[in-house]
Amino acid sequence: MTLLSIEHLNSHFMTVDGIVRAVDDVSLEIGENETLGLVGESGCGKTVLALSLLRLLSENTKTDGRVIYKGRDLLKLNERELRGVRGKEIAHIFQNPLSSLNPVLTVGFQISEPFLRHQGLKKSIANSRAVQMLGLVRIPSAPDRAKEYPHEFSGGMRQRAMIAMGLACSPSLIIADEPTRGLDVTIQAQIVELMKDLIKNSGASMLLITHDLSLAAQLCDKVAVMYSGEIVEYADIKEFFKGPAHPYARSFLESVPSRGMKPIRGISPSLINPPPGCRFHPRCDCSMDMCKSVHPPLTEVKDGQHARCLLYA
Ligand code: SF4
Repeated sequence: MTLLSIEHLNSHFMTVDGIVRAVDDVSLEIGENETLGLVGESGCGKTVLALSLLRLLSENTKTDGRVIYKGRDLLKLNERELRGVRGKEIAHIFQNPLSSLNPVLTVGFQISEPFLRHQGLKKSIANSRAVQMLGLVRIPSAPDRAKEYPHEFSGGMRQRAMIAMGLACSPSLIIADEPTRGLDVTIQAQIVELMKDLIKNSGASMLLITHDLSLAAQLCDKVAVMYSGEIVEYADIKEFFKGPAHPYARSFLESVPSRGMKPIRGISPSLINPPPGCRFHPRCDCSMDMCKSVHPPLTEVKDGQHARCLLYA
């Protein structure tokens, strides 16, 4: 069963230099109890796509298309309806918890807020639920830690606190944006284990935004590769790791440390003036003449594996 369906989503920023096409005609689906990894280099549009879903972008952004969640188009909800979805049905775990947590409020109070706002619990009950949530994300001495401020937490504990906030109201969908970024390898491994357990036990679906393919491999059922605002590959995670179809996806996989760390030649194109034809053609080793002028469609290569490449069109 599909939980979230993204259909022809565009998010463009109006700037003095021109229109930044951060998300360009993206269509994706996330099923119930499914984790989809959205991967790609920094600046390819992943975070903008995630923020577009709950309309969290600045006013100079023009977003259109459809984001169907449980039969309702999130792009058409009014502010009051949208507040009922944010944090309650769909939780967003932002990257960089230090800037996402309020420095002048205790961690416990911040975790209790969703219980107060969405479930109307009494303050004392909301506080004890916040302590329970801290225990759930394996923060030791949770009752004492709940009274502390974000700067008193380590980086890993702040990330756990963000996850606790996200899970507070048992959302159906969690959008996790680079949840392990900036953490050392040991803490990353602990967060990954924690997220695996929480996904399994909560039954929630997840959209995981990451540039880290090894993280996607550990947590995801499916993967979508984004390049220059577009989805260039979409596949079951096992099929993807057996052999990515799109030349960019192949290069991206070869660039990770466990696969030889081969850098991708060239630089990511401008989102204001992307190259005509295939946006990857200036960097592609398989490029043909027609790649410079023909924009490739997303084509099924085999059993659910799709690639946006003229080699398959
Ligand atoms: Fe490379 Fe052409 Fe395929 Fe683009 S369409 S990825 S340039 S082969």
